[in-house]
Amino acid sequence: MRDSTRLVAFDPCDGDPFHASTTPIYQTATFDQESASGFGRFDYSRSGNPTREVLERQIALLERGVRALAYASGLAAIDAMLELLAPGDEILACDDLYGGTYRLFSRVAARRGIVTRYVDLTDLAVAGAAFSPRTKLVYVESVSNPLMRVCDIRALAALSHQHGAMLAVDNTFLSPLGMRPLELGADLVIHSATKYLCGHGDVTAGTLAVRDEELASQLAFLHNATGTALGPHDCSLLLRGLKTLDLRLERQQRSAGAIARHLLDRPEVRLVRFPGLPGFPSSYVHKRQATGDGAVVCIETGDDETSRRFVEALRLFPIRVSFGSVGSSASMPCAMSHASIPDEVRKARKFPSDIVRLSVGIEDVRDLIADIDAAFALLRGESGPQVEVKPSLGTSPCH
Ligand SMILES: *Cc1c(COP(=O)(O)O)cnc(C)c1O
Repeated sequence: MRDSTRLVAFDPCDGDPFHASTTPIYQTATFDQESASGFGRFDYSRSGNPTREVLERQIALLERGVRALAYASGLAAIDAMLELLAPGDEILACDDLYGGTYRLFSRVAARRGIVTRYVDLTDLAVAGAAFSPRTKLVYVESVSNPLMRVCDIRALAALSHQHGAMLAVDNTFLSPLGMRPLELGADLVIHSATKYLCGHGDVTAGTLAVRDEELASQLAFLHNATGTALGPHDCSLLLRGLKTLDLRLERQQRSAGAIARHLLDRPEVRLVRFPGLPGFPSSYVHKRQATGDGAVVCIETGDDETSRRFVEALRLFPIRVSFGSVGSSASMPCAMSHASIPDEVRKARKFPSDIVRLSVGIEDVRDLIADIDAAFALLRGESGPQVEVKPSLGTSPCH
């Protein structure tokens, strides 16, 4: 069965007595037991809940893992992974990570005695030389956000295993339909399900998927022991969002490609970053391991103020953090999603402060391109036709 079929054709809840055709929300904390010593399949929702179980099975299938677990957020999932480490252990992380992950590693894991070293893991020679006997976990994002750098997952998995370390891949940016790190040799796959998996911006959630039974049992133990699971209502929303993942992504990626190509021709834009563009720097490695490009396009204008004015002039791309939703949005990562990375670190990593991130949604791409052109026209002082976004209430038939 192909993934697009699997997303809608699955058992919505085995054992449901009414044969519900969509997964019921088991909004219950407890399940009655038959006897004092005989536990049923479920007893307490922290340790297991039928709605969550269906969601977790879907994620495991999509990632080709033996098991997946759902958490209250992407960062909660990453933190759960950190519970596998002990004081003195070391994480080798790519020097281009989501700001919240950087904050978790540098300010929370560090207090537990876990040291993180940031190196350029896109360079295999650098990566190979960076291992120490304490390295227990290698952590990467590919494609990274917003710099769109690519790590060779197969090669890093082999290197990690040679050194007795695990490889964890944050696959949020491409989704399981764009890349399956477990098949490439990774040990753990993370998703901020808040992004593409949900797709509607109405849930914060995270997932971990693994291909090793022993690792799965450890994580399931920690899931229950630390109580970080996603609630049944959010699981249900996520299951609903997942059904259209393939449809949404197909449209979003196609539109993102068209927008990236359009932006290449704009004189105001100095650099366009999008994995699907011809000449994308790491195209060879990316195409060998991924089948999708995501739907985020980043541009640089060469000037912070120009970027800020451009973002503020857009109408169909409201300014908001996050990406992957059906609705387009724009952000300036330095001031927003990556603000938790200190200025001096960002400077040392040559993180451009004028970078603009466009998350492309499912709107008609002609409207999105018209909006971008209108924003540039506004920047030049021309008052071209603005895209009307919010219909005024006065004209509504309800008033
Ligand atoms: C958003 C994001 C996270 C964090 O996920 P939350 O659901 O916000 O906790 C982690 N990694 C990446 C790549 C992200 O974009």
